[in-house]
Amino acid sequence: MAPRADPPVGHLIDSARRGTRIDTSARQDWAWQQYARCRGLPPDIFYPPDNERQHARRRRENRARLICVRCEVAQQCLEHALRWPETHGVWGATTPRERSSKHS
Ligand code: SF4
Repeated sequence: MAPRADPPVGHLIDSARRGTRIDTSARQDWAWQQYARCRGLPPDIFYPPDNERQHARRRRENRARLICVRCEVAQQCLEHALRWPETHGVWGATTPRERSSKHS
């Protein structure tokens, strides 16, 4: 698997901007991000705008999932999102509601 040369992962940057916990300590391995299919894509594919309506949310999440299901690091992404946990956005082809149900 060859690293992609795109800019940093858009939705991960957006996660930091939204205040989601991003641990950049040496304990966390972020190397998988260089293979992320979402690198350089607009964060608004993965994160909702304010006051997003249900139908628009479904369409956006489905669009994000179509990207994720072809991502070679989807498993690492999902494990990260469950571990920290990421409470916003689509990670590893899962929505926040789906990840929340995996915790309960
Ligand atoms: S699984 Fe989706 S959100 Fe995660 S790195 Fe891949 S494309 Fe990005």
